[in-house]
Formats: sequence, C-alpha cells, structure tokens
Amino acid sequence: MSERRRGFQTRAIHAAVAPPVDQQTPSVPIYQTSTFRFDDADAYADTIAFRRPGYTYTRGYGNPTLDAFEAVVAELEGTGAAMSFASGMAAIHTLWTSLASSGDRIVATRALYGGAFSLATNVLPRFGVTVELVDGRDLEAVAAALPGAALFYTETIANPTMDVADLEALGARCREHAVPAAVDNTFASPALCNPAEYGFDFVLHSTTKYLGGHHDHIGGVIACSSEGREALRSTAIDTGGTMAPFDAWLAMRGISTLGIRMERHTSSAAWIAARLAEHPRVERIHYAALPSHPDHGVAARILPNGAGGMFAVEVAGGVDGGKAFCDGLELAWIATSLGGTHTLVGHAASTTHRQYPPEARRAAGISDGLVRVSVGLEDPADLLDDMTQALEATR
Ligand SMILES: *Cc1c(COP(=O)(O)O)cnc(C)c1O
Repeated sequence: MSERRRGFQTRAIHAAVAPPVDQQTPSVPIYQTSTFRFDDADAYADTIAFRRPGYTYTRGYGNPTLDAFEAVVAELEGTGAAMSFASGMAAIHTLWTSLASSGDRIVATRALYGGAFSLATNVLPRFGVTVELVDGRDLEAVAAALPGAALFYTETIANPTMDVADLEALGARCREHAVPAAVDNTFASPALCNPAEYGFDFVLHSTTKYLGGHHDHIGGVIACSSEGREALRSTAIDTGGTMAPFDAWLAMRGISTLGIRMERHTSSAAWIAARLAEHPRVERIHYAALPSHPDHGVAARILPNGAGGMFAVEVAGGVDGGKAFCDGLELAWIATSLGGTHTLVGHAASTTHRQYPPEARRAAGISDGLVRVSVGLEDPADLLDDMTQALEATR
C-alpha cells in the first residue's frame, strides 16, 4: 500500500474499531452487528459449517449477546443449551416445524395459547401436519394419543382458567412412548417451575412476558439439549425468526430481577385473589393456589413456590358485568400481554375467545364475565382498592 491517505468514506467506516476489553462489565455488551470478520477464507468456510467455534452471521449462526442470553436461560431452566427467537410464536413455529414433517401428528393439550391454537388449526394443516388436541387432565387420553406422535406439547399454566399441567405424570407418559415432550412455561417462568426436571425436552418461553418483564420487548426462547438446539437452529437459519441482540440484552436485564419480581407478582396475586373471592360481585376466581381451583393439588407439587401472577375473575352480570369491571378500573389497564410491571386486564369472551361459539367457550370453562388479570408490581393494596371500586361500579 502506498502512503496515500485513504479516502474520507473508507476512513469513516474503518476507523471505528472495537477496543479490546479484558474486564468484565455487569451489563453484557450488545454486539449490534449482523456479521463478523475472518482472518482467511478457510476460517470462514469452517466457521459457517460449524466445524470450528466462532461467529458468522447473527441470523441463527450466533452472536455473543445472544449466546450470553441463551446461556442464562439454559442455566435457569437446567438444560444444556437454549435457542433464542424473534417472538414466542417464532419459537413455537420453529419447534413444531423442526420436529414434525408432512404426514406427522403433534399431540397438544386443548387449552392452548390463542396463537398456538391458530398455528395448529390454520397453518400446519396446510403443510400436512395435524395437531390432535387432547384433555391434559385425562392421562389415559394423552397416553392413548401418544404412540406414533412426533411431539407432545402442553403449557405449565394455561390461559385463562389457570389450569396447571401435571408435568410429572405427562413427562413420564412421553418417556414411556419415546415421544419428545415440549412445554410452554411462559406463565410460570423458570423462577417457579423447571419442566426439564420432569423429563421435558423443550421448555419454551415468550420472553415478551415475565423474562423481559417491562412491556418493552418481544422475544422467545427454547431451553433444550445441545442436540435439540442444533435441530432448532437449522430450521431457524432457513426460516429466519431469530432474536435481535438488543432484545437479548433487554431480556437479560429483565432476567437479572426475575426471581424478585416473581416473588412480588405471586404474593400480590395470591393476596388479591383471596380477597376478591369474598366479594359479592365475584362468582368465581381461577387461581391454582386457592383450594377452590381443580388443579390445587397439582399446583402444590408442580409450583411449590406459588402459582404465579396471573388469575381470572368471573364477574357477576355476564358479558356486561365483565366489561363494566374492566371499564371501571383506573390503575389497572385494559391491554393485551402479561407478566410486566403494569397490571393488565382483558375480558376473555369479547377479546381472546371471541371466535369461540358461546356454548363451546362456556364448555371450556370460560364464562361470559371472565376477566383475566396479570398482576403487576404496583402496591397490592392499591390494586385491591382499584378492583374493589370497579366491582362496586358493576352493580
Ligand atoms: C404471549 C404468549 C405466547 C406468544 O408469544 P409472543 O412473544 O407474543 O409471540 C405464547 N405462549 C404464551 C403462554 C403467551 O402468553
């Protein structure tokens, strides 16, 4: 190279060089980069083929910030590895399409998250994959459906009636029939339940909810073995629904306070649910820590540290009663999503379950006046006051 000074635009690009840092920082740096440089062509060829460690491309091939996030999730769920995704739905989609091919059958429990239900009934059948829905409480029905299935899929705590899956019994059935077992652990979070202990091979989270915890991020993650991760990664590289480094950073920042937040979400929800259950305008509370919940016994085993921050309240007065309760709230917001700082509510019959015929909806345990509550981190006495005044306003 001559002594000629490089041009302005070349210097504007190449003068920005990350200084080498050999000190730890409490905040994991964000590698806001799509690509990584190699010393020679062979290094590139070997790294992109995963024959040697290193980074190639942030979409699925890896990124140091994503690695750090995946490592903390694997550590908290007690698995060998984890794979991050752009959303909870991208995680579910990648899991199902990695494990099932045209002609295959997935067995899933009936009370599915709405997006998963829609993927199962509207999208996968177009590609020759069927999803057979079973009652997760009926272990005989689950065992009868398992032989030949490509995957079993359930949720630790199901929406909106807060059914708790007997992961111990379900995991044992899956191992008996050698069917890979997956669970959406979003509502419990790894602070309250680690399904890998019961033999679950894939433990999924929408990090949008408790792991992120602050209503400022969309993401998903699946904790699994390193072989499981390779299968997911191979699909994700081709389908592209992978997490961005900044979202991994937000999720990690959320996780650093997850245990403390879950204690508060759980203690507030338990305290409020028990008090609302006494209110004359409340017909029923769905919260698995209350003895009135059908899964109370299962929850005592599967969720020994508490039943989490979500409950549902059946307000008297049907659809009008449920909506009037939501409209009367001042501190709690009417909004979708869950698991963050703010208390959020939604009337199920008119929103998440609007496509259900009323009879089918009621048969699924979702009454006309049912309102789902995600208890936030506000002072619980303020939330109880707010909910009590809103109940009075439904009279
Ligand atoms: C929100 C949610 C999802 C989907 O996650 P997104 O991040 O919104 O794609 C899946 N499962 C459960 C239980 C959820 O609450």
